[in-house]
Formats: sequence, C-alpha cells, structure tokens
Amino acid sequence: MTHSAPWITSLLIDLTNSIFGGADEQLAEEDSLHVELTLSRGHSPKWQEYITVDGQIKGRFHPPCIRCLERSRTEISSPISACLLSDDQQQQAELQDITDIIINNRERELFFYSGRQVDFTPLLWELLMMVIDPNPIHHPDCQGLCPTCGLNLNMSSCSHKKTLA
Ligand SMILES: [Zn+2]
Ligand SMILES: [Zn+2]
Repeated sequence: MTHSAPWITSLLIDLTNSIFGGADEQLAEEDSLHVELTLSRGHSPKWQEYITVDGQIKGRFHPPCIRCLERSRTEISSPISACLLSDDQQQQAELQDITDIIINNRERELFFYSGRQVDFTPLLWELLMMVIDPNPIHHPDCQGLCPTCGLNLNMSSCSHKKTLA
C-alpha cells in the first residue's frame, strides 16, 4: 500500500502548522511526505487479532529556524515497524506503560486500533514526532534576531546589546 492520498497531504499540513509554528497556510513547493505501509493481520492466543505494519516514512520540509525564522531544508527518513492491537486489550496489566511489544520474535512499536476501521494517522503522527526536530536551527552559528529591533543578526548588526537566551 503506497499513499500519496489527500489525507497524507492534510497530515503534512497539520504537522507543519502545529510543529513548525503555523506561519504558513501552504506548504513549500517541494515539501512532501511519502509513506509506504505493508500490513498483515495475525492472531495470537495472547493478544487475539493484531495488525503488523512495516514500511518507511520519508519527508522533506522547510521548517523555520527557531532563532531567525529562515526556512531550511530538512529531510527525514525512518523505518516503520509497528503492531496494532485491538483496544480491547489496552487494559491488560502487561501492556501498561510499555511502548514496544514483541510479536513473532520481533520488537515493534505498540499502537491500538478500535473498531473495524483502522486509522493510521495517530501512528504516523507519533512516528513523525520521534524523527522531527521540534526546535530546528537553520545553521549552528545562527545569530537570531535582535530582541530589541528585530534585525536579522545574520545579515547585519545593530547597536543593541545582545543577551543570549
Ligand atoms: Zn536561523
Ligand atoms: Zn537591535
């Protein structure tokens, strides 16, 4: 299953707005999110029905620098190896406070699904949160903006005293 479906685009817009400050309604031309998922159903005496999810998530974003707001290109690429159990299982004592589960001798990130329709948005969202830097800096030496006059100190300097946060 490969998705370039509209819900991927809307996920990407939500993501850009909520993590990267929401400055833009629109995505940069080359921003993209590509998700490949292979799903299999399984059954175990212990966990009942489960769904394994294997794949890859790749993305390209232009988040604004937290110091000077300049956008810079960021790429992410992360494998997906997850298992979804029915939320009927969620109350099991063994599953409290764990984030990974071993299914068929393989450790996978644990998620839950409810009902018959599986929504992958929470899963993708959580994976993205793990691989995206929430505080992007466009360059390690970024001088940021002057807190007094707002001048971009990477471009020029002003007479205001600089206090590093
Ligand atoms: Zn910067
Ligand atoms: Zn200044």
